[in-house]
Amino acid sequence: MKFKGSYVKDFPEDKPYILLTGRSNVGKSSLINAIANTKIARVSKEPGLTATLNFYIEENIYIVDTPGYGYAKRSKEERNKWANIINDFIENYGENILCVFALIDSVVGPTELDNMLIDYLDSKSLNTILVLTKVDKATQKELANTLNRLKAFDKNIIQTSSKDGIGIKQLKAIMKELSHAKKR
Ligand code: GDP
Repeated sequence: MKFKGSYVKDFPEDKPYILLTGRSNVGKSSLINAIANTKIARVSKEPGLTATLNFYIEENIYIVDTPGYGYAKRSKEERNKWANIINDFIENYGENILCVFALIDSVVGPTELDNMLIDYLDSKSLNTILVLTKVDKATQKELANTLNRLKAFDKNIIQTSSKDGIGIKQLKAIMKELSHAKKR
């Protein structure tokens, strides 16, 4: 997996993309590192440092990392900026987005912003897979609660832990399948 760049104008128009979304601190950078099997994304002590879109290649798919949302200290202006970045990307590359991995913290469960994002992705007819992060950390009760709250979305749910390597093979298999489907 190679780091490619971070500006919307740099994105090739004819490539298949997987979009990774999630609130700040959900474990997005760690998940990218686990998929890449190397330290490619910065794992931040401070939440909310990924300000622009970054992309990484894996299985001939461009994985697009998006800025984390919902960081408490962010201003409304910053939140609007976030929404514009995502919206622009979807407007420009929507047809090439194979799938969105919407990351949800299995300990915290879906936040209001998570719910809004999933509804938004639905409104754009994007294929969304819910990726639960940090399952190693969640108690049985927390995990059950999170799963229960996600039921209504009727989406595929993949449970992952970047720390223990849970679900990473499954995510890679999905990516491979999607890349083959695209070639047909
Ligand atoms: P990002 O802000 O979404 O990119 O999140 P990071 O990948 O930087 O992770 C945020 C915090 O959660 C860091 O302290 C990580 O060490 C921790 N973290 C990430 N993934 C896991 C996981 O699978 N299990 C556990 N226990 N902690 C995790």
